Amino acid sequence: MDADGRSGVTTTLELRLVRRPDGQLRVADLEVAETTVPALAAGQVLVRTTHHSVDAAVRLRMDPVSPPGYLPAFELGAGIEGLAVGTVVESRAEGFAPGDLVQHARGYRELAVVDAAEQALGGTGALTRLDPELAPAQVQVGLLGGTGLTAWAGIVPVGQAAPGETVWISAAAGAVGSVAAQLARERGCRVVGSAGGPEKVGYLLDELGLDAAFDHRLGVEAGLREAAPEGIDVYFDNVGGEHLRAALAHLRPFGRAALCGAISGYDATPAPGPDNLFLATSKNLTLRGFRAGAFADRAAEVRAELAALWRAGRLRLDLATYAGLERAPQAVVDLLAGRTRGKCLVTTVPDD
Ligand code: NDP
Repeated sequence: MDADGRSGVTTTLELRLVRRPDGQLRVADLEVAETTVPALAAGQVLVRTTHHSVDAAVRLRMDPVSPPGYLPAFELGAGIEGLAVGTVVESRAEGFAPGDLVQHARGYRELAVVDAAEQALGGTGALTRLDPELAPAQVQVGLLGGTGLTAWAGIVPVGQAAPGETVWISAAAGAVGSVAAQLARERGCRVVGSAGGPEKVGYLLDELGLDAAFDHRLGVEAGLREAAPEGIDVYFDNVGGEHLRAALAHLRPFGRAALCGAISGYDATPAPGPDNLFLATSKNLTLRGFRAGAFADRAAEVRAELAALWRAGRLRLDLATYAGLERAPQAVVDLLAGRTRGKCLVTTVPDD
């Protein structure tokens, strides 16, 4: 491919799903292959993408049918998509010019043709011009974009975490979880995090400064009881199953659960469900599922708020970076298996 985009036929590498995972995703289920980049139609831009967000939610789209109401399943043999940041190299869309830093939803390919009008990924993936002064590209995609909006939505409008309340966040060493934990801390909450393994628990306590943390592999129920002996007011659920069961048992009356994700069930058939749901009735709990796209109209405001916290050193971002699209299959597999900490990114920065 040539540096400025187009002279003659342009090709790019893209990540494809070539086999539907049977349970846990394997590297061989994915493939990185070359494809031709079509000429731009009116209303489209060509983006050289440098930072690709790796998200747990892609697993939901790898089964033959994705959950009703969710984004459609990926087609076998076709490129997959995800949030990403890059620079416009050619534009046939009003409001976008070469050199603009943008976020879009056609990640996992180095050169992406993007429809400027498409409300991709339920709204969070719409083509958006970014202010390069706000933060570097890896922070824009890793913290200020979909990850930050999701964390903010679960803590603020959905979970309504208030100062002095106890908030439990599962998968707290992951991308969404680590931002949610820090936002809850910023709001003056007592924050409990859980993660898999002693190294991640140490990270939650020593580096993110949470009030308590426990290793879910040693037992979710016992860990939560010890970390929050008085119970919890808000549960930010990234995991579902046994974690949600423990939350229902330990939520105080009128507590809230922000149901963000249920990763423990993404590989499992049938997905594990809590068997104590009646506690939601008996304790007057509010359980609310949410997708970040429902809050897309607040994205610019949240981006500015998170950027200010990041610049002030009050919100940290740790990255698990995989350089080169060839490493994207390993990145996705590692993320789902819990082998990454913080935000997982694939970078395709020229010369990296
Ligand atoms: P993370 O960076 O949090 O990575 C996933 C983490 O999940 C792993 O690091 C691992 O942490 C944990 N995990 C994996 N399997 C299990 C299991 N069986 N039991 C317990 N923990 C497990 O990924 P994301 O930040 O991308 O996603 C986090 C959650 O947020 C997901 O559920 C995702 O679907 C959801 N999400 C929802 C959105 C929305 O709009 N509602 C938007 C984006 C994400 P550990 O090693 O600690 O076990």
